[in-house]
Amino acid sequence: MEGASIKTFLAYLEKIDKSLLRILTNFRMEERNGKVYLLTEDETLKEKAEKLLLTKLGNGIKNSVVVVLEEERQVKENKESKTAEGLSSRFSFQNFIVGEGNRLAYEVALEVAKEPGKIYNPLFIYGSVGLGKTHLLQAIGNECARRGYSVVYKSATDFSEEMVDSIKSGKIKEFRNRYRNIDLLLLDDVQFLSGKERTQIEFFNIFNHMFLNEKQIVLASDRHPKELKDVSDRLVSRFEGGLVVEVCMDEITKLEIIKRKLQELRIEVQDKIVQLLMESTSNNVRDIEGTIRSIKLKGTGHLKEKSLSKNDLEKIKLYTALHFGLKPEDLVGNKRSKKVNKARHIAFYLCKKLTDASLIEIARAFNRKDHSTVIYGIKKIEEEAKRDRKLSYILSFLEKHIGDRL
Ligand code: ADP
Ligand code: MG
Repeated sequence: MEGASIKTFLAYLEKIDKSLLRILTNFRMEERNGKVYLLTEDETLKEKAEKLLLTKLGNGIKNSVVVVLEEERQVKENKESKTAEGLSSRFSFQNFIVGEGNRLAYEVALEVAKEPGKIYNPLFIYGSVGLGKTHLLQAIGNECARRGYSVVYKSATDFSEEMVDSIKSGKIKEFRNRYRNIDLLLLDDVQFLSGKERTQIEFFNIFNHMFLNEKQIVLASDRHPKELKDVSDRLVSRFEGGLVVEVCMDEITKLEIIKRKLQELRIEVQDKIVQLLMESTSNNVRDIEGTIRSIKLKGTGHLKEKSLSKNDLEKIKLYTALHFGLKPEDLVGNKRSKKVNKARHIAFYLCKKLTDASLIEIARAFNRKDHSTVIYGIKKIEEEAKRDRKLSYILSFLEKHIGDRL
């Protein structure tokens, strides 16, 4: 066989050995110069696959398939550009699926990657977990590193740890200089700068230096700069000084993501499966990917039960929102007006009362990062209802009204 594409390779495996195909779903696949690359970060998995491929593949195709340990590849790539720290080639603009909810973020990320430091500086991307923020940061980084810019990607937590270590070892000057000499800093999960005063000071200085020198800074966070807690005002105002964009999820994008991910894993895109996935997964792309992988291994049987309660959560969301003259998206989004907050808490309460969903599942259905928000909301509503007869009446009305419709 002269060269191989992912498609021909998978078709070949399907014919010769399905069990091998199953193992390979744990790998990421790429196609370059007529070769198929199987990428993993797991060394044992790599060895296992190599052995299997050696024994099972025919001579023609053997030379066209290469198993690579991700770190190995990264190190190699790093040597080629100036600095490219923390980047993983898994994330690119090409494999980012674009839809209504993430289009703006995608487009500005592309522009920033084209001309770092020139247009939007800083670029601040925010939104719930699993919606592709890290993916976009990494895609910008990879694109710029490829063109020879020096890039550092780092989570705010790692940045902070690195700073503390440098202070301890008397190397804070080196730390500062390092960041002053790069072209592009991608700082992820900046909500974790919260309360870390010294880190904020160091970052503020690096930020200013980079900004003045037209070096690009891109930030990602689970919330809008204004909603960051215990982050100094001057940093927040810097964050807002460039462009702030939100990533969110909508049904059409979700549908597209499900279809594309099914194709990537070579599962036939049947309406039935797509529908099931739409209902049984949250809006978190990481969850969607995980569920699709589980289908590959276990089929769809295990999804059904979950989909029932997921459906119910959606209905509760809808009816509660309608009752308050809101949209279901308002309850899922980050709006914090008194009215929205109250409706959201009531919806939490009703989900707990009317379904078997766990607090974690409820949190997920409302795009909340952890279930303590749900616990807090339910408690608050229960306390208030003890004192407020009108609220108590609304709760029993909604419980009956919605309960009848589940
Ligand atoms: P976040 O940083 O917002 O929590 P990630 O960027 O880590 O989310 O995304 C979680 C997973 O979902 C990653 O594997 C990522 O590649 C994938 N993903 C998220 N959004 C998209 C998208 N629009 N297209 C393709 N893959 C996506
Ligand atoms: Mg992330």
